[in-house]
Amino acid sequence: MVSTQIIKGDITKVAVDAVVNAANSSLLGGGGVDGAIHRAGGPEILEACRQIRARQGGCATGEAVITTAGKLPAKYVIHTVGPVWRGGGQGEENLLANAYRNSLRLAVENNCRSVAFPNISTGVYGYPLRQAAQVVHQTVGRFLEEHPDAFQTIIFVCFDEENYGLYNQLWSASIR
Ligand code: ADP
Repeated sequence: MVSTQIIKGDITKVAVDAVVNAANSSLLGGGGVDGAIHRAGGPEILEACRQIRARQGGCATGEAVITTAGKLPAKYVIHTVGPVWRGGGQGEENLLANAYRNSLRLAVENNCRSVAFPNISTGVYGYPLRQAAQVVHQTVGRFLEEHPDAFQTIIFVCFDEENYGLYNQLWSASIR
């Protein structure tokens, strides 16, 4: 049975098998959680991203790639690219769901038993918080039902009070 936890804080401090990064498709680093992960994890992560970029030319929206976690307390960083919010009619919901699903798939393939997620797309990319939280609840909830033995712990690391409140509302209303 997987334990789903919701915490408020900084994802770079969380000791899990894999932390997920809200990257951009260049994989060359950015602001927000991406900047924090590269700062705390050191240059090894960027070097690994550069190698992936040289091989496959970056990472499309909704896709995910995995690298070392450098100096972070985690083992791996899974870099996924959430959608930029463009009003909701550009497939954003599906792309956000793909980002979570593909990250979880990659975690399973790499034998990660514990995974921490930030609130992908809800920073600079502008996805409305409640709608994003609903997509996460539905997508991750379904994945965990379909793969009941895959994970020990899934942690949602909320950086702000509003996301923290929304996640607590949604997950406590369902028995998982
Ligand atoms: P995006 O471009 O996908 O919107 P951002 O990094 O701008 O990515 O924001 C994604 C979420 O990550 C936001 O909710 C933001 O508050 C949060 N965030 C920023 N820094 C951290 C951090 N160190 N740990 C966890 N979450 C963070």
